[in-house]
Amino acid sequence: MTTELNSFRVEVRAWLEQNCPASMRTPMPDEETPWGGRNAKFVNPDTKLWLDRMIDKGWTVPMWPQEYGGAGLGIEQAQVLEQELERINARIPLMSFGVWMLGPVLLELGTEEQKRRFLPDIAKGKIRWCQGYSEPGAGSDLAGLRTKAEIKEDHFVVNGSKIWTSEADQSDWIFCLVRTDFDAPKHQGISFLLFDLESDGVERQPIKLISGTSLFCQTFFDDVKVPAENLVGEVNAGWSIAKRLLQYERQSVGKFLNKSFDIQLHDLALQYADSETGKIDPDLRSRIALQTMQNEALGLLIERMERDVDGSGLGAPTSVMKVAMADINHKRGELAIEAMGAAGLAWEGDDFTQEEITEVKGWLRGKANSIEGGTSEINLNIIAKRILGLPDPR
Ligand SMILES: Cc1cc2nc3c(=O)[nH]c(=O)nc-3n(C[C@H](O)[C@H](O)[C@H](O)COP(=O)(O)OP(=O)(O)OC[C@H]3O[C@@H](n4cnc5c(N)ncnc54)[C@H](O)[C@@H]3O)c2cc1C
Repeated sequence: MTTELNSFRVEVRAWLEQNCPASMRTPMPDEETPWGGRNAKFVNPDTKLWLDRMIDKGWTVPMWPQEYGGAGLGIEQAQVLEQELERINARIPLMSFGVWMLGPVLLELGTEEQKRRFLPDIAKGKIRWCQGYSEPGAGSDLAGLRTKAEIKEDHFVVNGSKIWTSEADQSDWIFCLVRTDFDAPKHQGISFLLFDLESDGVERQPIKLISGTSLFCQTFFDDVKVPAENLVGEVNAGWSIAKRLLQYERQSVGKFLNKSFDIQLHDLALQYADSETGKIDPDLRSRIALQTMQNEALGLLIERMERDVDGSGLGAPTSVMKVAMADINHKRGELAIEAMGAAGLAWEGDDFTQEEITEVKGWLRGKANSIEGGTSEINLNIIAKRILGLPDPR
C-alpha cells in the first residue's frame, strides 16, 4: 500500500473516531434506517448528526465530484473509507436509490443542468427516489412495458401503472420508464422520465409482504404532467439508460448484501449453542464456515472488480454479484433460522428478543433477493450471453 493511501487511512480512522457517534456503531433497527427525503424522520438524533457529518465530508457519495456533493475520491481511497467504516461497524449514513441507481446514471448520461439540479440533493438525502420500472404485465420482460407518455409541446402526459414500486409511498420523486412510441420495436419506444410523486394524478397503494411489512406499492398515473426537461437522454432512447441503471442496481444490491450482516452467523449460532458443552453442532458449524468464506470471497472479488474499472460502472459482471449474493443471503437466512432452534419461530411478543424477530423477518425478506433487481434466472441469462458468450438456445 502506498504511503499516501496509508496516511489517508490514518486520517479517515481519526475522523471516524471523533465523528461517528457510538450509537451509530450498533446494529440498525428498521425504524432508524436513514432514508432521507422531504419527510425524513429521525427517531434517534444521532442518525441525523451522523448523516450531516458525512454529507459535510462528501462521504455519502465519496466518489462523486465535489461540485455535485461528493468528495472526488479515487477507487482506492473509497475502498479505504469503506474498510474503515466496516472496521468500526458504522451504520450506513444514507440509504438511497438516488445514491445507488439514479445518481450514477445522471453522472454518466444526464445533462449538466440535470446533474446540478438533482445530484447535490441526492448526496444530501433531501429527495427520496423510487424506481418505476415493473408493471403488472412487464417484469422480466421489462421492455414490454405499457405505461404511456404522450409528447405535448413542453411536457409529457403520463398514464398507466407501475407495480412493486419499493417505498413509493415514502418517496418524493420517481425515475420512470414510459412508452413514447407504440409502433416502434419494443426496445426502441421507451423513454426515461423523472417526476415528483406529489404531481396531480399520482396514486400510491401499498402492498403487504410475507415479512409483514409493506415494502412496496402499486403506483397509478392518471394524466400526470411531466415537464419536458425531466426527460433523461433522448425520446425513445430510454432502454439503454434503463439497462445501465439496472447494472448499478445489481452492483449496489450485491455489495449492500455482502456488507450488511449486523451479526456474524458464528456469533449468532454461539448464542444458541449446546448449553452443556457451549459448542455449535459440528455439521452446522462447518456449513456456517463455508457460508462465511463464500461471503468474504465475494467481498474481495467485488473490491477487485471495482478497482479494475477504477470505480466506474462494472457492466454485465454486476449480474454475477447479484446472483451470488442472493444465493449467499438465502443460505445465510436458512442457517440463522436453523441455528436459532425454537427462537427461529420468533414473530412478535415478549417471548422473543428484538434481535430474534429481526433475524426471522430478515430471513423472510431475503427470499426476495433472487427476484428484486432482476431475477436470478434473468441474470444467469445475462451471464451466459454477455460474459460467457454462450449461444442462445432458441
Ligand atoms: C422486494 C422487491 C422489490 C422490488 N422493487 C421494485 C422497484 O422498486 N421498482 C420496480 O420497478 N420493480 C421492483 N421489483 C420488481 C422486480 O424487478 C420484478 O419482480 C422482477 O423483475 C421479476 O418480474 P416479475 O415479478 O414480473 O416476474 P416474471 O417476469 O413474471 O417472472 C416469473 C418467473 O419466471 C422466470 N422467467 C421469466 N422470464 C424468464 C426467461 N426469459 N428466462 C428464464 N426465466 C424466466 C423468472 O426468473 C421468475 O422466476 C421488486 C421486486 C421485489 C421482490
